[in-house]
Amino acid sequence: MSILVINAGSSSVKFGQFDFESLEPTARGLLDWAGQARRAVVTLTPADGPAVRAEVDVPDYRAGVIAALRMLRESKLVGDAAGIRVVGHRLIHGGEEIRRPVRIDAAMKETIARYKHLAPLHVPAGLEAIAATESALPGVLQVGLFDTAFFADIPPSAYLYPVPYAWYEDWGIRRYGFHGTSHAYCTDRATEMLDRARAGLRLVICHLGQGGSATAVRDGVAVTNTMGFTPLEGFMMGSRCGTVDPGILLYVMREKGLSFGELDEVLHHRSGLLGLSGLSADFRRVETAAAEGHRRAQLALDVYAYRVKTMIGALAVTLAGIDALVFTGGIGENSAWLRAEVCRGLECLGVRLDEQRNAACRPDADVAAADSPARVLVIHTREDLMIARESRRLALESP
Ligand code: ADP
Repeated sequence: MSILVINAGSSSVKFGQFDFESLEPTARGLLDWAGQARRAVVTLTPADGPAVRAEVDVPDYRAGVIAALRMLRESKLVGDAAGIRVVGHRLIHGGEEIRRPVRIDAAMKETIARYKHLAPLHVPAGLEAIAATESALPGVLQVGLFDTAFFADIPPSAYLYPVPYAWYEDWGIRRYGFHGTSHAYCTDRATEMLDRARAGLRLVICHLGQGGSATAVRDGVAVTNTMGFTPLEGFMMGSRCGTVDPGILLYVMREKGLSFGELDEVLHHRSGLLGLSGLSADFRRVETAAAEGHRRAQLALDVYAYRVKTMIGALAVTLAGIDALVFTGGIGENSAWLRAEVCRGLECLGVRLDEQRNAACRPDADVAAADSPARVLVIHTREDLMIARESRRLALESP
């Protein structure tokens, strides 16, 4: 029996299959439209064999997911429908209502749909993936894990914005936090690596991928996250700006005539590493260019590291100090330069990096100096495994 994990993005869908008993990954899949409207590519990769690839004609998103699920079954990678005990979905937004992993039924689909306006690309994609699963795998239990749920307990002082209170009451404008599945996984993994109880443990977890956010965690519970009402707040990202003075937005609209649409495009797709370097939203490419002497690439990296460092400081004071700093995500796991640059100056928080361990790091690893009061952990995030684990738990609890 197996668990199928589905991560429905706006222009691609990732699949992961896990053995129900051992939670070992057995296959993964990708459905990618790559900019085409009615044609998509499905790639299936078994854990122990070569990938198979096929192009499918699909009229819409749901049909794409149905086609990919059919391929998964026909390839015998996931076995027949009876072999799939539970399907776990990664879902982006559960508002204030959804605080833990849930069983998806008709009422839950309605609840999820209420948050469409808060994540207009991702919530509909998640609902389409749920509908596709219902159609391709009728009767199979479906479970949802929400990126916002890990932040259900952050206090009002951390989640309220200093704008009219009615914006919160009437429009739900508050900080929600994102990347919760990754932060929850890293919380568990860090606790295990440190061989500590959750009680009393203070962590700052930096998830640095295409998007980026940090979470302060005390006693295993999130205290705050740097992303806010939307995933645009917080760290500078690949092509997203992160936190900027909102006065800039008023200024460029009023004085430079930028429309809502232009601003939306610039802040999401033409800012961050891409905006500053003028080269790429991809950290590795910017790092390579900087090493070759590209001045603006280096500038982009410097701003990136500065912002990560200062936000770690802000989170650390909410915990009155840290026991461990965690790096994860494609950049956090792979860029030794970034980790070293961020940790320089964090000695005041008891963070002392071992330069050699950092340079040679293979996650999961502790790269702090032996005498460092705070540990520095590099963890390979496994959101899919987290979803598989929780889906299994709910399946075992279900009648
Ligand atoms: P996503 O947020 O889409 O899941 P990832 O977590 O895979 O993305 O992170 C993607 C980022 O990680 C990219 O900016 C990429 O350049 C960066 N990255 C991946 N490998 C390396 C590396 N070896 N060195 C530096 N950056 C890397």
